[in-house]
Amino acid sequence: MRSKHIFKPEDIFKCTTCGDCCKGYGGTFVTKEDIYAISEYIKTDPDSFVSKYCTISCQKPVLKQGVNKYCIFWDKVCTIHPVKPRMCRQWPFIKNIIADVDNWYVMGGICPGIHTDIPPADVLECVARELSKKS
Ligand code: SF4
Ligand code: SF4
Repeated sequence: MRSKHIFKPEDIFKCTTCGDCCKGYGGTFVTKEDIYAISEYIKTDPDSFVSKYCTISCQKPVLKQGVNKYCIFWDKVCTIHPVKPRMCRQWPFIKNIIADVDNWYVMGGICPGIHTDIPPADVLECVARELSKKS
């Protein structure tokens, strides 16, 4: 009997670095850990970071946008890549996929790195595996 193919994360997603997910109001929420890590990386203090680079949405700090509508930290690439917020690091292996696997295919419409030709059961299995590593 042939063994079942196990899809690895790189089999179902490969970022093209197009930057589309860094544009538009996506509400990139920053956790307390993100705030400390980014502040240290850009050599500022957490309070200054929040007042200069964040806006408050639903009582949570989210990254501001620049005039070009891209995230304030986008400049052809993510300029804080080593410490980018948890939300950005997790994409597209997020809980919303477990809640409804159709979200994978919807997200594929805006993110060219998402492979939409993978069967739903395999997407679910792979995303669940990745999430369990990160939790
Ligand atoms: S939209 Fe997708 S492919 Fe483009 S930069 Fe974002 S994660 Fe990568
Ligand atoms: S922090 Fe980096 S990856 Fe996240 S939205 Fe901003 S530029 Fe994009």
